[in-house]
Amino acid sequence: MSDTIKYILSEDFLPTAWYNIVADLPEQPPTVLHPVTAQPITPDDLAPLFPMAVIEQEVSTERYIDIPKPVRDILRQWRPAPLYRARRLEKMLDTPARIYYKYEGVSPAGSHKPNTAVAQAFYSKEEGVKRITTETGAGQWGSSLAFAGTFFDLEIEVFMVKVSYQQKPYRRAFMESFGASCIASPSELTASGRAVLEKNPESTGSLGIAISEAVESAVQRDDTKYALGSVLNHVLLHQTIIGLEAIKQMDMANDYPDIVIGCTGGGSNFAGIAFPFIGEKLRGGRDIKTIAVEPANCPTLTKGKYAYDFGDTASLTPLVKMHTLGSGFVPPGFHAGGLRYHGMAPLVSQVVDLGYVAPRSYAQLKCFEAGIQFAKAEGIIPAPEANHAVAATIEEALRCKEEGRSEAILFNLSGHGNYDMQAYMDYSAGKLYDQKYSEEELAMALSGLPTAAAG
Ligand SMILES: *Cc1c(COP(=O)(O)O)cnc(C)c1O
Repeated sequence: MSDTIKYILSEDFLPTAWYNIVADLPEQPPTVLHPVTAQPITPDDLAPLFPMAVIEQEVSTERYIDIPKPVRDILRQWRPAPLYRARRLEKMLDTPARIYYKYEGVSPAGSHKPNTAVAQAFYSKEEGVKRITTETGAGQWGSSLAFAGTFFDLEIEVFMVKVSYQQKPYRRAFMESFGASCIASPSELTASGRAVLEKNPESTGSLGIAISEAVESAVQRDDTKYALGSVLNHVLLHQTIIGLEAIKQMDMANDYPDIVIGCTGGGSNFAGIAFPFIGEKLRGGRDIKTIAVEPANCPTLTKGKYAYDFGDTASLTPLVKMHTLGSGFVPPGFHAGGLRYHGMAPLVSQVVDLGYVAPRSYAQLKCFEAGIQFAKAEGIIPAPEANHAVAATIEEALRCKEEGRSEAILFNLSGHGNYDMQAYMDYSAGKLYDQKYSEEELAMALSGLPTAAAG
């Protein structure tokens, strides 16, 4: 039995603590800097935005952090999430590889995101917060926070990227069913929204703009905090429940992965499944290969720079060192909305930089083809984001076949695609194509990286 299992599993199988990879890294993460002064940020700087308990987790170096009982009691509704052996997919591919997947689509919102939404809502409530603002792209994060907010009587205000707001009425209805208010971003409600609209009244928005609006709305009221659904250390921490359960489940299957795969937008579901395994390796456990898969149209890890940048468009967020395409970069349209972000979690960026993780990127057609193949074999239609992980899994399984190797592959099926039928309809109607981002725009966005923090 691995040391991880002994520490964190309760009798009913649910982990009792999250895993913090910072405790096992050979070097401390780079300092986070203040957006205006470029000096190291202090907990007081972050206090208007986040509950103190979350700020403490953000900078913690403890290996294990207890999951509060009220959080575990809610997560227990769908956790532990099942881990399946994809036997029919193995057969279809005629591969000697053993394919496993952890299925996060069993949560009420249909993805891994409630794992952190519930925790963040809990800590806000504990500290007397009445209202939480946030942004959402495709709608999965807004849905998850709206869902979590109901358990703690919190008002939830969601700035939803305008193009999704118009294209995804069901996601909006989902949030509103839980009493959340959903606002198309850019909006007239904030100075950052108004500034964008003044320049371009037709703006369809972006995640970076929506973050600016949500942050601005949060700091205006004392009873309000802000919540982020990915990228930050505490979000990745909350998601490690995925990998911690998977370690135990692989143990029950009498197996251990040679390869762990996840898709990366902001990096949270990838970190969730991969960090506990990387941690075991760093503490002298088995060597594994981990693969982070991103969209070719928003290739943060494979084409971005590892440099200090803002998390949003209006430069309101702290400066963090991460792989980034530049906060001014707007990726061309594609269907995996949850992966359309210019930056990457600083901790995922760091482990990529340290060489623990191999990033790769795929164009969307290949991913949808893989998703359909997976659906036909396993009966679950993956979220377009998760199709990236599926595509890498199939590629690795076919490599195993070619090389005659029987490796164990574990991937995270971060969510189901039941709200994404338009994307699948477009794919089967032949209306999807692989549009390449403009090299020129990328070069321009990268040249605009903040220089104050260059050192
Ligand atoms: C949001 C989302 C992602 C991307 O976010 P990460 O923080 O990189 O995990 C991936 N898959 C699904 C299903 C999502 O909802």
